[in-house]
Amino acid sequence: MAQEVGAGEEARYERERERMVREQIAGRDVRDRGVLEAMRRVPRHLFVPPESRADAYDDQPLPIGYGQTISQPYIVAYMTQLLDLKPGMKALEVGTGSGYQAAILAQLIDEVYTIEIIEALGREAAGRLKKLGHQDVRVKIGDGYFGWPEHGPFDAIVVTAAANHIPPPLLQQLKPGGRMAIPVGGPFQVQTLMLITKSPDGKVRTRSLMPVRFVPLVGQGSSRP
Ligand code: SAM
Repeated sequence: MAQEVGAGEEARYERERERMVREQIAGRDVRDRGVLEAMRRVPRHLFVPPESRADAYDDQPLPIGYGQTISQPYIVAYMTQLLDLKPGMKALEVGTGSGYQAAILAQLIDEVYTIEIIEALGREAAGRLKKLGHQDVRVKIGDGYFGWPEHGPFDAIVVTAAANHIPPPLLQQLKPGGRMAIPVGGPFQVQTLMLITKSPDGKVRTRSLMPVRFVPLVGQGSSRP
């Protein structure tokens, strides 16, 4: 998917990106300066198939193949802001997709882990991230329901597919003081974006934030009641 584009085209994409941040993201309710800067920097058009490039900075999700999507830019920014990332933190993403959300996280912190269940997508995303200079992002092919215990616990977890319940292994792998953003709900139901926080003494608090629409979290773990 990642192909070279000319300098003039790059400048045009940069202007579109600036407008995307101004109108769709800062123009709504994302205020975190680090997140806004990350959204300004990452070339979203290189994370979508060539035929969708012209639409890369529109206010919508886009197909990335295999029945999956790259999330709407505003949702990516909003979920990233929820994580309240600080340098030195470690984050896990479940649902690598195109690698875009992982690239945004990698603008803010050094340790980013991401899991994708569709092998071809995961491999493409890993190659793209490497090509764009994010060779430190660790991509695993597998069922993200179970997290990545070898590298946990994490300060932040972001799940970019809708689960019908909050996966207990992810809760376990969230550090005390950590934050998790996750859409919860079935594919034919209203899904709710939830923020889960774990207090320093391990108490878990759940807040419902907004209705959202994500592709479902699939895999063995998710089919459990
Ligand atoms: N974050 C992605 C991006 O920036 O392009 C978009 C993610 S897309 C909305 C959801 C992704 O979650 C899909 O690529 C899908 O294959 C993946 N997925 C679904 N169930 C999964 C699971 N159990 N473990 C890991 N990935 C999963």
